[in-house]
Amino acid sequence: MASVVQLSVPKSNTTISVPTGLFINNEFVPSLDGLDPIPVYNPATEQVLCHVVSAGEKDVDRAVTAARTAFKTTWGKNVTGVERSRLINKLADLMERDSQVLAELECLNNGKPVKVARDFDIGDSVACLRYYAGWADKLVGQTIEVDRKTKVAITHPEPIGVCGQIIPWNYPIQMWAWKVAPALAVGCTIVMKPSEITPLTALKLSELVVEAGFPPGVINTIPSLGSVGGAALSSHLDVDKVAFTGSTVTGRRVMEAAAKSNLKKVSLELGGKSPQIVFESADFDQAANWVVLGILYNTGQDCTAGSRVYVQDSIYDKFVNLLASKAKELVIGDGFDERSGGGPLVSKTQYNRVWGYIESGKQEGARLVVGGEKRSTPGYYVDATIFADVRPDMKIVKEEIFGPVLSVGKFSTEEEAIALANDTTYGLGAGLHSNDASQCMRVSTALEAGTIWVNQYNLLYNNVPFGGKKQSGFGRELGSHGLEEYISTKAVHWNYGEKLDWPL
Ligand code: NAD
Repeated sequence: MASVVQLSVPKSNTTISVPTGLFINNEFVPSLDGLDPIPVYNPATEQVLCHVVSAGEKDVDRAVTAARTAFKTTWGKNVTGVERSRLINKLADLMERDSQVLAELECLNNGKPVKVARDFDIGDSVACLRYYAGWADKLVGQTIEVDRKTKVAITHPEPIGVCGQIIPWNYPIQMWAWKVAPALAVGCTIVMKPSEITPLTALKLSELVVEAGFPPGVINTIPSLGSVGGAALSSHLDVDKVAFTGSTVTGRRVMEAAAKSNLKKVSLELGGKSPQIVFESADFDQAANWVVLGILYNTGQDCTAGSRVYVQDSIYDKFVNLLASKAKELVIGDGFDERSGGGPLVSKTQYNRVWGYIESGKQEGARLVVGGEKRSTPGYYVDATIFADVRPDMKIVKEEIFGPVLSVGKFSTEEEAIALANDTTYGLGAGLHSNDASQCMRVSTALEAGTIWVNQYNLLYNNVPFGGKKQSGFGRELGSHGLEEYISTKAVHWNYGEKLDWPL
């Protein structure tokens, strides 16, 4: 298999070169395990784009060894915060320089529109790298008074070590940046396992890692099947931490593997079934905009997708009609068409899964307001679909769909809305829309989720922590909290005066 493929960019005469080997020690290498290569698809055409090398257990081991060696020699405690900051900033500059090509590659592999990938995913990723570059030389410990005359204790924020990072397919570049940036800022080394469905941008970014000047072994990237490379990384005895983003089912496996191997530290960003509540006092038009954004952004393939909406009975019928007309306005189409605001779903599996839920919504008696019809053209496209008059026991209300499918229900009192919103095993995000300030405070306090949006939805900032409650996982990304996931605090107890009388 060639180690570089040339992919044609639709609607242009250009090609993008993509390395297809495993990225270990700053080189693209073939597999030691010799597993079948992974086919990578274009979800807009359903055609194979190329194949990439698939890492097996020996490859994972080799990548971990590279990361351990770098941690002990060129990175970890051997590099200053100023230097880490310089390199991360350089990587951000290169990503910004190449944002158009990266966006086109993201579109080819994931389906999301080029303009969305470039202006949101990559723009935000560049900012994320810069945000954490800013932290790299500002990490501080504490000097803790123990006994002023004789003793002091000092804490050092040390890098935890070699980190396995396992990411999903819905934001391939952004999840890469969210994971890589804080780990590098603290001084950890990385073995990154991108989703087998969308490995191309992580491989392309690896070229930039070399160009930025990172020492070999600091960031290694190993495309692999989850049950092979992901499992090997989670159970590896020389990995100190696994940061995982993906489904709750897989998160449970990662945690089990970590517990059964070396009790490595784990952070989990998992699924969701996030609610939005629209009260009668809300700005009617704005609330509808945020609700459709909440379910249609990234074609609903979003861990915080606001997939359940509860609307107060006094405004219910009018609001459902407005949602339907706004949902129809979003163009879901080819990501290389500038008019598209959303692309196809990422894979055939996801397409079939989402259609399974749409069929179940119909069968369980939810009222179909918009969508719900298959297209006859190629590509894994699903149009915005809204079900109204849903009941809490319906599958579409209980389970994460990960597609542009919204369930709308009715409530009359604030207590009822809170109870409906919290009636889920997940706790990732929640939104509420109201112009009653006291109500906003009361309800945001009562909602069980790691992120609450008031009079907006789905916006995240690099300096604000993000993460879940309940079965949406634990640990935080972004903000200063995101750094803590990669830090092991060492306490040094220092005696400068106390004499020990012996025997006790
Ligand atoms: P997934 O759990 O199937 O896969 C996620 C990653 O885990 C992939 O890289 C996969 O190869 C790997 N994996 C699979 N089996 C594994 C195993 N046994 N051990 C270790 N790794 C394994 O999820 P997905 O389908 O790629 O992504 C969609 C899910 O991710 C959704 O449930 C979504 O809610 C969640 N998600 C959460 C967040 C968040 O921040 N909370 C963000 C994005 C996506």
